Amino acid sequence: MNIFESDKEYIASTYNRFPVHLVNGKGSLVYDENGKEYIDMGSGIGVTSFGFADDEWQKAITAQIAKLQHTSNLYYTDPCVTLARKLCEKTGMSKVFFSNSGAEANECAIKAARKYAAEKKGKDYFTIVTLKNSFHGRTLTTLAATGQEHYHELFNPLTPGFAYVEAGNIDELKKTALETKAAAIMMECVQGEGGVIALDADFVTQTAEFAEENDIILIIDEVQTGNGRSGKLYSYMTYGIKPDIVSTAKGLAEGLPLGATLLGEKVKDVFGFGDHGSTFGGNPVCCAAAVSIIDRIDDNLLSEVRKKSSIIFEEFKDAPGVESVSGLGLMIGIKTVKPAGDVVKECMQNGVLCLTAKDKVRLLPALNIPEDVLKKAIDIIKKSLNP
Ligand code: PLP
Repeated sequence: MNIFESDKEYIASTYNRFPVHLVNGKGSLVYDENGKEYIDMGSGIGVTSFGFADDEWQKAITAQIAKLQHTSNLYYTDPCVTLARKLCEKTGMSKVFFSNSGAEANECAIKAARKYAAEKKGKDYFTIVTLKNSFHGRTLTTLAATGQEHYHELFNPLTPGFAYVEAGNIDELKKTALETKAAAIMMECVQGEGGVIALDADFVTQTAEFAEENDIILIIDEVQTGNGRSGKLYSYMTYGIKPDIVSTAKGLAEGLPLGATLLGEKVKDVFGFGDHGSTFGGNPVCCAAAVSIIDRIDDNLLSEVRKKSSIIFEEFKDAPGVESVSGLGLMIGIKTVKPAGDVVKECMQNGVLCLTAKDKVRLLPALNIPEDVLKKAIDIIKKSLNP
């Protein structure tokens, strides 16, 4: 059996993979089994922010793996606490819980908000208000948080205690939060899986003010938008708000599994011993990898991200075959005249790997993609837009 047949035989069929067998890569270039070169404009869905096989990242991992690969959370290890300190110093958040994925980072955020509200206001304050068209993960609780009915079908009953409001409708949000005795409001500043749609700035600031006034925990899901992807370290910084909880994963450890839930002043001590945990969470190798990444997401890199973002917006906004361009930083959705799936297929044939989100072509290139490589990819994508 070749790899396509073996995969079909032995791997649960949850992923509709592209028919490409990738074997190695460096930076923003990746190669298949036949040596064909692709420019990567997807970074493993917003994960490999410094490209494939990044040298500093490799060095950090191999140095740590030669010392300790795992200890459990019963002992102290340096990379875990170093990373937590750096994240707190860079964000003004107070404490961190480490897990292994975005969904788990959100589970932790939801547990923290519910415990805070139960202790402060009463056990009937448990509802988490989220936005329609959101995406927060695949566990039964984060699916419940995800405001898209089609993900729920056939998996009911999900975790109860979620309510959904239209993004941008502040009156509906306030009414729902008060009526349901909300513990928290949870949102992505840019809805990624929902079609790369940045939330309206007034809606976000009004939500933050309302949450603050009513002592409702504000959770910002930075799983996809975080760690430099938006052009700021975290996307909420673009909106000038201060969340109570920030969840992140994806680009944090550049491909090693690591989720983080950043707890602000209000909730920093909400968890006591035994309230939450994870065998692998805060693993020293993953945390060492993340330290090597977070150290390099500085003003210089972030201004490069914003510059490359402008290049992409400029190149596509009036291009033939394009209806609209949306997003923030290097998280971009292009609504094309031709079906997005067809564009992505043609790009792949011509040596560029792109993604889709809903009916859009989605671009999530590495944050450090060289400008000439980016321009080459843009030219190839543009050629694929013609009907
Ligand atoms: N939250 C957001 C905004 C996401 O985009 C994703 C994944 O795409 C998740 C949560 C879930 O993350 P994971 O797949 O690491 O569990």
